[in-house]
Amino acid sequence: LATRVPIVGGNWKCNPKSAAELPELIANINSCDTSGCEVYVCPSPLHVALVQGKLTNGAVVAPQNCNFTGCGAYTGEMAVEQMKSMGISWVLIGHSERRGEFGLPTPAESSALLATKCKHAYENGFKVIYAIGEPLPVREKGISAVVAHCVEQLKPFKEMTLLDPDKIVLAYEPVWSIGTGITASPKQAQETHAAIRAWLAKEVGKDTADRMRIQYGGSANAKNAPELSACPDVDGFLVGGASLKAEFKDIVSAVA
Ligand code: PEP
Repeated sequence: LATRVPIVGGNWKCNPKSAAELPELIANINSCDTSGCEVYVCPSPLHVALVQGKLTNGAVVAPQNCNFTGCGAYTGEMAVEQMKSMGISWVLIGHSERRGEFGLPTPAESSALLATKCKHAYENGFKVIYAIGEPLPVREKGISAVVAHCVEQLKPFKEMTLLDPDKIVLAYEPVWSIGTGITASPKQAQETHAAIRAWLAKEVGKDTADRMRIQYGGSANAKNAPELSACPDVDGFLVGGASLKAEFKDIVSAVA
């Protein structure tokens, strides 16, 4: 059986309000025990440059988004070429808040667009965290609908041969659990992660499936992390709200 090094990410989203709060958040990341676990942090775009270079324990900065073409006339965008010049080599794409699943006006980011972002990031030597997951109405239809939804999000990545476990980490984040305080039960998380892994084995290959890291995301915290982390197919967490709190380091400790 392949050993998968667990990986925990902190997504600060559009926080904190003031850059004056960054030193405390950075100190919290630097206090994480990274001996048995990879750690990344996703600062808000305005704060990326203030965090990059300040991490002392092997944790890395992974911006919350990138574009798919590089530098040029793309107002408001962030290019991996710019990140690379700052020494950054990881990026998060596909978060449901970017896909528009919380009611942003169209055009939202489609999985096909996200695959082009991933390809462009790879071409620049980046590693990618790719977030997937179903909204509540899909979860209510049952596990088959959930898996079908996630598979649709993975298909463009498969078609463009992007599902390389050395370059991509999947973050399964059920939309109904993000920022809601409602965590998927360990049974729900395990069942979904195992189904995604089974799809990878069938469609891409057993080695890929065995080595692909699949994080869980959705109201993860220090209290629920140990039980979720004990699930054989859960390889760490993508943490939103709790990554702004001291307990983030306890979540890292729970998986290491
Ligand atoms: C996230 O934003 O990826 C997330 C999982 O948020 P939260 O932990 O706050 O639910």
